[in-house]
This record gives sequence, structure tokens and C-alpha cells, in this order.
Amino acid sequence: MAVEIPFRREFSFEYGRLEPVAPMIRRIVARNPSAFTFRGTGTYVVGHGEVAVIDPGPDLADHVEALLTGLAGEQVTHILITHTHRDHSPAARALQAATGAPTFGFGPHAGGNRGDPAVEEGGDWDFVPDRTVSDGDRIAGKRWVFEAVHTPGHTSNHLCFALPESGILFSGDHVMGWSTSVIAPPDGDMAAYMASLDKLLGRPDAVYWPTHGPAITEPQDHVRAFIAHRREREAGILECLRTDVERIDAIVERLYTGLQPGLRRAAGRSVHAHLIDLVGRGIVESGADAHYRVRRN
Ligand SMILES: [Zn+2]
Repeated sequence: MAVEIPFRREFSFEYGRLEPVAPMIRRIVARNPSAFTFRGTGTYVVGHGEVAVIDPGPDLADHVEALLTGLAGEQVTHILITHTHRDHSPAARALQAATGAPTFGFGPHAGGNRGDPAVEEGGDWDFVPDRTVSDGDRIAGKRWVFEAVHTPGHTSNHLCFALPESGILFSGDHVMGWSTSVIAPPDGDMAAYMASLDKLLGRPDAVYWPTHGPAITEPQDHVRAFIAHRREREAGILECLRTDVERIDAIVERLYTGLQPGLRRAAGRSVHAHLIDLVGRGIVESGADAHYRVRRN
């Protein structure tokens, strides 16, 4: 029986408006909707007066302008970046130019090369954080303290940012309510992603605010469903290999029924990520002509 993921897609907002969504938290959604970004990038503002901005968003002048209008009379003191996809970090440049605030992130975009064909939004190769942040680091403002949680998988430099006193986790693209995350090698890594899901299960965060879509108010159930979904997908791939469906495109054909054509490549990358993980664990081997098979000892 297929795993049911409790997706959350009811999402009310107005483009171009910085709106309060919880005590301490405001959000403005950029007008960059797509099959990978849902309605667009949600840029969060934490605090009042002296504020942190999480994921300034894509390089859209209107978005940055609307954010700055919403913050008139306030001061941006920190710019936090969950990861370096082009729908998350590029607007940091314009925001920094306007405010002088330093950027905080795990590090530059990694894995692959600048010219690689992009699945989803592609990498922001120009972003370099002013302050590099590691797992467990604390980032303090006057009225709030973030804890950085390194969650590689979607990208190797992905961070979630927790507000431990409020039970809030800004989960970036690691855990979203509206969709599963794209895990696209070489920078996307299935083994790391699964470990990063497990890592969240060991934490007490009560609400997740992802960069795309609405808050997740039963985060542990959600994370458990994602883990079960990936295990089910892995089992499906192994079943394909055992029945001589041995190439990525054929596996996608078999397992992803009713897939929108625009998402085929992302599905292929996801299957590839599973296969790399299975090869790494010694369960599968890759043979000639991009065929994979289950290892026989
Ligand atoms: Zn992303």
C-alpha cells in the first residue's frame, strides 16, 4: 500500500506584501511560481525593529523593493541563506547593497559545475557568505537567537535555522509541506538527505516554516511520511532491477505514473540519487550502458 504523505497546499498570501504569519515572523512571497517553487519563494523576516531576513529570494527587483518597503523604518541586521539555489540566495546581493547587513550561510554552491544542465532552479554560483555557519552554531540578534542545523541532501550546503525558544524551524527546501524535495546528484545526495530527515526526528521543533508553501504543524508525522515514501521508492527501484527494468528512464516510466512531462528529468535525477545510494551501500552495482543490477554475492 502506497505511503500517504499529508501534503499541505492551502496557502493564503498576497504577492508583494510583507505579511505577519506568526508572532515575530513576517513573510513576503516572490512572484516566481513554478513546478518547483509552488507559488513562489517565501522570504521570512524575523523580529521587529532589528530584523533577520531568511532567503531573500530570486533576483527580482520588484521582490526586493517590496521587501524594503515593508521594512521601512526598520534595520536588517542579518541575512540568512538556507542554500544556494537561484530561487533562494541571489537577492541577497541587492538586499545587502541596500542595508549593509552581512550574509550567513554554510558556504558557496558545491557539487557539479557552473555549466551543468539545471534541474529545478539551478545553483547560484556567485554567492559567497560573509560568515560561514556550521552545524550547531548560534546566530544572535538583540531579541532572538538562531541555531543552525546542517541538513545536507537537497544540496550539500543546506541549513535549517531553528528558534529554539519558540519551537520554530525554518526548514528551507529540506522539508516542505506542499511537495517532496528534489534530490538531484551530484550535489543532491540521497544518503545525506535520509540522514538529515532522521536528524530532524531527534529534535523538538514544533512548527516548520519552509521557504515554499504553508507552515507544517505536525512536523514529525510529516518527516516520518517522507522517510517512508523514500523507502517505498527504493523498494520499487529494487523491484524494477529484479524484473530487468535496469535503466533510469525505464525505471521512471514504470514507477512514476501520471507524471507531468516537465518533471521527468527531476524524477530521473531522483532515481539516480537512489541508485547512487544503493551502490554506495553495496546493494546494487552499475554495469555497462547505464544498466544497474542487484548485486549477487
Ligand atoms: Zn532548493
